[in-house]
Amino acid sequence: MQNYRKNIGLRRHILIVDDELVNREILGNLLSRDYVVHFAENGREALDILQKREHIYSLLLLDLLMPVMNGFETLEIMKSDSRLRSIPVIVMTSEKDAEVQSIKMGAADFIAKPFDLPEVILARCERIIQLQEDKSLIHAAAKDNLTGLYTKDFFTEYIKQLESYDPNRPIDVMVLNIDHFHLINELYGREQGDLVLTCIADSLTRILSKVQGIGCRSEADYFYVYCDHGTDFDEIFHSLLEGLNDKLPASHVRLRMGVYCDVDNSLAPEDWLDRAKTACDRIRGDYSRYIEFYSKEFYEKSKYQEKLINDIDGAIAARDLIVFYQPKYAIQGDHPVLRSAEALIRWKHPELGMISPGDFIPLFESNGLIQKLDRYVWNEAARQVGEWKKTFGVSVPVSVNVSRMDIYDPKLREEFRTLLKENDLEFHELMLEITESAYADNADQLVNVVEDLRSDGFLIEMDDFGSGYSSLNMLTTIPIDALKMDMKFIRNMQKDEKSMKLVELVLDIAKFLQVPVIAEGVETAEQMQLLKTRGCDIVQGYYFSRPVPPEEFSRFIAG
Ligand code: C2E
Ligand code: CA
Ligand code: CA
Repeated sequence: MQNYRKNIGLRRHILIVDDELVNREILGNLLSRDYVVHFAENGREALDILQKREHIYSLLLLDLLMPVMNGFETLEIMKSDSRLRSIPVIVMTSEKDAEVQSIKMGAADFIAKPFDLPEVILARCERIIQLQEDKSLIHAAAKDNLTGLYTKDFFTEYIKQLESYDPNRPIDVMVLNIDHFHLINELYGREQGDLVLTCIADSLTRILSKVQGIGCRSEADYFYVYCDHGTDFDEIFHSLLEGLNDKLPASHVRLRMGVYCDVDNSLAPEDWLDRAKTACDRIRGDYSRYIEFYSKEFYEKSKYQEKLINDIDGAIAARDLIVFYQPKYAIQGDHPVLRSAEALIRWKHPELGMISPGDFIPLFESNGLIQKLDRYVWNEAARQVGEWKKTFGVSVPVSVNVSRMDIYDPKLREEFRTLLKENDLEFHELMLEITESAYADNADQLVNVVEDLRSDGFLIEMDDFGSGYSSLNMLTTIPIDALKMDMKFIRNMQKDEKSMKLVELVLDIAKFLQVPVIAEGVETAEQMQLLKTRGCDIVQGYYFSRPVPPEEFSRFIAG
């Protein structure tokens, strides 16, 4: 470690606090060869300098008798401030009593006045700095037993020290990870797994000694690297891979690398490593890429998503989640007739404003929170249908979206039945939209669930029909009550012949199956007309209305 510091020419900062110019000059001359020296004329000034945090100070040489603020007061304040407490202080005094008192107050050592021999002063400074640095490093176990690389704790501590000497040095950090490392362990045994890890560690050590970087291992198969900005990470990556394939030709190891280039020095080193790791994890399972860079946009997106995840429970409790309703009209008669509505969630976030479901539905689908959210929407929608029934004396059936995850919930049927009972609704008043792509996940399960729900009396609408590959095959196995044609057909209907043909095809299939077609995303009168003449039954889209809050929806019901 010493060598690395020397190599990159690190110089520590020392602050000399003395009211007498001649003392400042003597010490300044003596220390400026090895250190970057700063001066203050009293305790107040010294504290101001320290609190500005322009540099990390490795040592404070503190006179005790000074105007404005003396050494004891300064020491007391420093020791009560968690950010200054760890800076070692050597007091300078001519009084024996004061020496004892200041050591008791937390000074690390003292220098007698008039000054000792220069070598003695230098030696004391160096020793105190060394002791302090070792103390913080010792807290962390230094080496990882298996590979001999640093542990992550030690590595982080080490980076912090390096940074303190040269806070603005441009730095890159990177993370390497082995794809499916657990499979190597399972298929070839732990010993082979260990061999892969040590092999990577050895190559890494060799490479890093060339580029003056340092590295560590953590969480079994993550390797972190800290090096000067501009280091050729592509070369590091490929040297590592070659080394592995030479030594362990049969192990088929695949590596991924995340790079955070030219780190933001105002952030903590832990954050740099996190960022590189996030980039690395992002290409997990993506076989077309092996290096990914941390980017600000991506980071902000993941922060944003993290916030949404944290806030969802509060939002449910505070009723910031609002269910909007979009009308569906039957169009084959002389005038369009309101048939039903789709319940669509909106999030009115107190800080972020209105959030579209496109931002949070896929996120919550990926982590399971969608089930909580869907239950909230189903409840709200069922209650609303009941309320409209009471207020207007008419029934406006509402369809709710059922996520693929809900399909696996064994209590699903029971929950819907309870909802009907609680709100005094009939089966056809709460319809269920199930997305076509759920069929691709687990066709058998979906078929069973849909059959059960239908035998109870629920109506099922197949959502996003035509968006996946499973469409035709699915129709032969799943009994459904309506097809919701995917929006992209409507979008392209007037642009190209093929889309128009597909719309006609979907309508034909539906006729054959004797189920109505609901066209979604209908925005214009022309689209409306085209669909009407081709026999489409129901239309939903901006042409009639955007999804609106329940109060506003009432006007569609009132006519
Ligand atoms: P979806 O189920 O296919 O819902 C239709 C989407 O199309 C809605 O977007 C709706 O606002 C939008 N839309 C309707 N008419 C038009 C139109 O004429 N033009 C255009 N450009 N768009 C139109 P929204 O509300 O943003 O919802 C997006 C998706 O989020 C929904 O797609 C659905 O998959 C999901 N989602 C919304 N609410 C819920 C919910 O409560 N639970 C679950 N599981 N998913 C929901
Ligand atoms: Ca839907
Ligand atoms: Ca849809």
